[in-house]
Amino acid sequence: MREQVEVAIVGGGMAGSLLAALLARGGHRVALCDLHETYPPDFRAEKPSPPQVARLEALGFGDRLHRAATPVGELAIARFGRIVQRRPSRELAIDYPDLVACVRAEVPAAALRIGRVTAVEPGPGGACVRLGDGREIAARLVVVATGLPRGLVEACGFRRRVLDPEHCLAIGFDVALASGSRAALTYHGQRLADRSAYLTLFPLGERLRANLFVYRHHGEAWAAAFRADPAEMLRAMMPGLAPMLGPFEVVGRVVTRPIALHVVEDPVRDGIVLIGDAFATTCPTGGAGLDKVLTDVERLVALVPGWLAAGDTTAAAVARFYADPAKQACDARARRIDAYARAMALDPGLAWRARRWRNFLALQGLSWLRRVLPAAAAKAPLSR
Ligand SMILES: Cc1cc2nc3c(=O)[nH]c(=O)nc-3n(C[C@H](O)[C@H](O)[C@H](O)COP(=O)(O)OP(=O)(O)OC[C@H]3O[C@@H](n4cnc5c(N)ncnc54)[C@H](O)[C@@H]3O)c2cc1C
Repeated sequence: MREQVEVAIVGGGMAGSLLAALLARGGHRVALCDLHETYPPDFRAEKPSPPQVARLEALGFGDRLHRAATPVGELAIARFGRIVQRRPSRELAIDYPDLVACVRAEVPAAALRIGRVTAVEPGPGGACVRLGDGREIAARLVVVATGLPRGLVEACGFRRRVLDPEHCLAIGFDVALASGSRAALTYHGQRLADRSAYLTLFPLGERLRANLFVYRHHGEAWAAAFRADPAEMLRAMMPGLAPMLGPFEVVGRVVTRPIALHVVEDPVRDGIVLIGDAFATTCPTGGAGLDKVLTDVERLVALVPGWLAAGDTTAAAVARFYADPAKQACDARARRIDAYARAMALDPGLAWRARRWRNFLALQGLSWLRRVLPAAAAKAPLSR
């Protein structure tokens, strides 16, 4: 059976679901293919940043997002083992499947095709998607948004260049404090030898969730030791943590995810576009993955109506997406953030030591000003 749509999207994570929702809203005939009816449990992007939340709000997903997410509330920041700042945070915490669900809820049910896509082939005036069960979808444009798995991307003839096979290790787990508190805390790595970027604790529903980012490999003894006794490893690696939190334990499953950085080389093809992690990944330490997803989708949504109206989804049109200045700037910024975060955590050079102290002193100064200024304002005589 072969059906015909304007845009077929393969992969219904954040990138694919957002694109499908926005194109459908614009009146385009889309098909969204994914392995699962609902995104399965997964550890990733649990704390979208305020600018990411603002972009989702601007796209009309704010109500669903705020209903599903937990406000992070007041956030304490610790550097060199000391709390240097407390400030209100506009961050939201949400399980990734719930984040995807907020967006997928706006994809028309009739557009969903559940099954494994096994091939995407160029065809006359566009491209064709084949599912494992024999279904075929012909489209003027096929967008591949299959995330990290390389299978389909490589089966389509694209080549991924691996920039770093094990850039960092992201670790997710729940923490229970004896005090019962679920206050948010971001604790930056204390010693270079620990190779840790930061630990961030935040309320997620009824849980106190923790994300730890370390520049280590999945197979090394450290990772096995962490899985065996995470609370003890945290106490050893971040000696200031226990005095801040009081007695605590790690509860439930500890999920460790090795993060590889890759980018697809020579992605320009007739009728096929790659977006999100399928095109390039970033390190979660910098939190720019969703920025890239949002920018890819926003730029494509701006370009696709023109391509469809002109009947032109050739490589020449597709090339304009990859060359888009906003996309290029976003991708370049994500790479800069990755490099900066890694150097801040690991680089023993003088310049990076100075930057770490600058951040520490700047935050301490700010928090001192915050304490002093309201007190001074309260003492000042009222002007008439
Ligand atoms: C541990 C971790 C923590 C992260 N933390 C952050 C963070 O704090 N902030 C941030 O901005 N970013 C973060 N990121 C990055 C962010 O999660 C990703 O950039 C983003 O989720 C990518 O979305 P995507 O839609 O491209 O891929 P995905 O969400 O992975 O979606 C891919 C979809 O494709 C489907 N699929 C795959 N193959 C097929 C097939 N053959 N047929 C049909 N369907 C298929 C899958 O079922 C899935 O639904 C993190 C990533 C990780 C791994």
